[in-house]
Amino acid sequence: MRRGIAVSPGIAVGTAYVITEIYVGGKSAKITSGEVKSELDRFEAARHRTAMDLQHLERKVATQVGPEEAAIFAVHRSILRDPGFSNHICKLISDEQITAQAALRDTVSYYETLFAKSRDEYLQERVNDIRDIAVRLSAYLSNASQEIKKDLRNGKLIVFADELLPSQVVALGDIDVAGIVTQKGSQTSHAAIIARSRGIPAVSGISGILRQVTTGDEVVVDGRDGSVIINPNEETLRAFRKVEREFVDLKDQLAENRDLPAKTLDGVMLHLQGNVNNVADARAAEAMGATGVGLYRTEYLYLTHPDVPDEQEQFENYRQVIAATPGQNITIRTLDIGGDKTVAYLGHNHQEANPFMGWRSIRLSFEHRDFFMIQIRAILRAAAEFPDGQVRMLFPMVTVLEEMRRLRKMVGLASKQLQQAGVATKRVPVGMMVEVPAAAICIDMLLEAVDFVSIGSNDLVQYLMAADRDNPKVSHLCQPLAPAVLRVLKSVIQSCNRVGKPVTLCGEMAGQHRAFILLLGMGLTRFSMSPAFLPSIKQLAAQVSVVQAKQVLAEALEQKTTNQVRQLLTNLLETIAPNLRLMESD
Ligand code: PEP
Ligand code: MG
Repeated sequence: MRRGIAVSPGIAVGTAYVITEIYVGGKSAKITSGEVKSELDRFEAARHRTAMDLQHLERKVATQVGPEEAAIFAVHRSILRDPGFSNHICKLISDEQITAQAALRDTVSYYETLFAKSRDEYLQERVNDIRDIAVRLSAYLSNASQEIKKDLRNGKLIVFADELLPSQVVALGDIDVAGIVTQKGSQTSHAAIIARSRGIPAVSGISGILRQVTTGDEVVVDGRDGSVIINPNEETLRAFRKVEREFVDLKDQLAENRDLPAKTLDGVMLHLQGNVNNVADARAAEAMGATGVGLYRTEYLYLTHPDVPDEQEQFENYRQVIAATPGQNITIRTLDIGGDKTVAYLGHNHQEANPFMGWRSIRLSFEHRDFFMIQIRAILRAAAEFPDGQVRMLFPMVTVLEEMRRLRKMVGLASKQLQQAGVATKRVPVGMMVEVPAAAICIDMLLEAVDFVSIGSNDLVQYLMAADRDNPKVSHLCQPLAPAVLRVLKSVIQSCNRVGKPVTLCGEMAGQHRAFILLLGMGLTRFSMSPAFLPSIKQLAAQVSVVQAKQVLAEALEQKTTNQVRQLLTNLLETIAPNLRLMESD
């Protein structure tokens, strides 16, 4: 048994499918000189078939998911066409007299070493693309792996990967994935977000697990405590199969709440919304009964685009996401790049000692003013397409009042530019994320400049506790239930409520049962979370009253340690919601 970070709740029992394997088979890598020609031909055939697959995938994803998600495949095709890449492989086959598979593996290591040396994060990202292509090529070079894939298509798959690449996630779309396990990653990594939005149990951060698991192994993934068991004995398997059935039954049962209004046991109405990255997520939010999208992270569009999305492309993308959102009720957040997410064309290839405290979000957007104005205009144009919708614009990482004033001016200017160009516009409420302690402490002074507030607890917690949200070494400190965090959250929520400015919390804690109850007690009624958490939170709300929540909050605020707060809430949950234990994610 291995243990990692539980990033998406639930239990899954299934067959391991290791997707980072670049090649399969134990044959010797050496070939004779007489075999070189046929090996080169085999590589050429695999290259041709991979290119056809990518083209097909690009078209399929463009129509079924969206053109932005498909763009990654164009990047991959261009790498495949790049003479530098294929010549490297062919040269190894001829000069070293090794198989195409071995040449492929050595070429990937060559680029890994080369790009690692460059310290350019953009290039490091491209290593993922190269690995991705190598896996595809490898599938054609090795019939064995094709056969395994065919066999496994009928079973329930637990995908194992170093980290899940965006294109792999999209390509897995037609395969029934029951669980995900990754060596790297944390609560906020791409794989975790995708797993949660699809309701797939997932565990991340188990280093070296790929050396212990083989495709075809029987495995158990426990998204409650982050454990993964490889080839368990019959007895263990039987026990987990039983819990897995209970989890699936509970999910089905909770899904029936989809169309019921969200309200607490004592009748307080709540707004439960979804966090999304793209059109597919907006559809998932709808399927889970969200009343809207409380956070649309637009950086995904930039991160998956082969070059730069222009105003028209952005407009069309935002329009599609708004159209897919329930009631066209959506909060669109402007680009939050920097920190751990980078795009090369924004000149982010300089190294920063503290990227999370550095040139991130609006700090970066202000410096690329024209580029930023394009996004603001695209959002305003898309909003105007839905006269009956409720589209809001949200700015990340606001730290001081001057920034908010400057942002408002930019929105005003963008609106004027559109009117002058004869484009219809509509007033769009403007809000700020509260995720920097300075803004949280002075929130009463910032409120005059905003129409609404959204608390980004993922960042607020890491900054308050001075503990990187992606670093497992300090995860014991990066805790949303820490007394310091609770005090600050309570003060922000109450300041907003006092002056009637709508306040939502859109960090991961909105979907965590213990935190949800405390937030309810603080007077919060708007929550935005990974769509998969919506049904259980709706059910939990129906089983807890605001009066109870206020009582437990008062007690929690007296506790001196996070563990004590946690225990208090665990005790309450055991009495009011033992039925939801399987859906807990914290
Ligand atoms: C947050 O910080 O809580 C948040 C919702 O934004 P992100 O996770 O994208 O930083
Ligand atoms: Mg944030």
